[in-house]
Amino acid sequence: DRVENRLFQNRYVVDVGRPHITVKPHVNPSNALVAMTRVCPAGCYSRNEQGQVEIVADGCMECGTCRVVCAQTGEIEWSYPRGGFGVLFKFG
Ligand code: SF4
Repeated sequence: DRVENRLFQNRYVVDVGRPHITVKPHVNPSNALVAMTRVCPAGCYSRNEQGQVEIVADGCMECGTCRVVCAQTGEIEWSYPRGGFGVLFKFG
């Protein structure tokens, strides 16, 4: 049973208007932040036409990768979703 198949079964509850991860306004993103457009397993990060990195946190699996990768740069604000929101894991 592949982990991807199980992840597909997770439910995600969007906390409308209260994203738990935000990218701070910036002109030029760091290499670490740009890397998130490739390594976020949920594909939450993307780059706009001006080159800034944006996030749509819906579907975030709370793996914490972006928090770790961008810890030094301070470009993102990261907190766990409120109780009852975010990903609800259904392993097993
Ligand atoms: Fe993507 Fe993981 Fe960051 Fe969520 S915590 S936005 S899944 S890298």
